[in-house]
Amino acid sequence: MIIGNAEAAARQVRRMASRHRLSALQEARLVALHLHLNTGAQISRVRLNTNRRTMLSLRGRPHSWTVSMHVGLLDHDSIIAEIPEWVSGRGRTTSAQLRRCLQEVWLAQQAAAAVADGDLITCSTLPTLMGPLSLDAVFSAIHGTWFSHLPKPAVGWSRSSGRRTLMHIRFGAYRRHPLAYVQLNPRLDQPWVARCFVEHVLFHELCHHAQACAPIRGESPHSARFRALERSYPQHAEAQAWERAFLSRLLAPIA
Ligand SMILES: [Zn+2]
Repeated sequence: MIIGNAEAAARQVRRMASRHRLSALQEARLVALHLHLNTGAQISRVRLNTNRRTMLSLRGRPHSWTVSMHVGLLDHDSIIAEIPEWVSGRGRTTSAQLRRCLQEVWLAQQAAAAVADGDLITCSTLPTLMGPLSLDAVFSAIHGTWFSHLPKPAVGWSRSSGRRTLMHIRFGAYRRHPLAYVQLNPRLDQPWVARCFVEHVLFHELCHHAQACAPIRGESPHSARFRALERSYPQHAEAQAWERAFLSRLLAPIA
């Protein structure tokens, strides 16, 4: 039984190694991870993915888990210990070390996707802010061009995240009460940031305002109606490409 499982596991590892063209080192880590995950009564399958969004997920039940992990995690030695630990906690707690690995893989993956999608080429010609952003003026222009039928919300900067490296970033925010108010993240006020990206963030928040001004009961914030309105921004695709290409730079500490 145990030998049978080990053989099946070895076959599965070899199949994944050839499908994902793993290096010898990556394959060795996958084998070690299998061994760590399958001890005693514990049986866990590992699936590799190249998914753009899901870096690590867990399905199944105790003693019979399926771990789906991004192939890039095999570049990190520490996952051999970290993932079994994470599985034994039913995927509910992620250690700082594992979060760092996930963050690195995600950023590398975003950068690779940006290259593959030609984002960097798209982005190289987009005009940048060049200097300090006049938030009021840009916001008024966006409001006046596309949302002039709605009352204009107040606009301001959100709190600065200082000189830290961020794990994630919220570019803007909208709140309806007590007064309609749009906030922009001050990290976007850097001279190399594409103007259309800043405009897109403000446009996005104004779409939330439009949604709030004509509410539909039970509608989710990023509903199909919302997304359709958001896509009407003329440089929607360019702004998205810019985000993919420059996200890691936005997360980095401000020089
Ligand atoms: Zn939103």
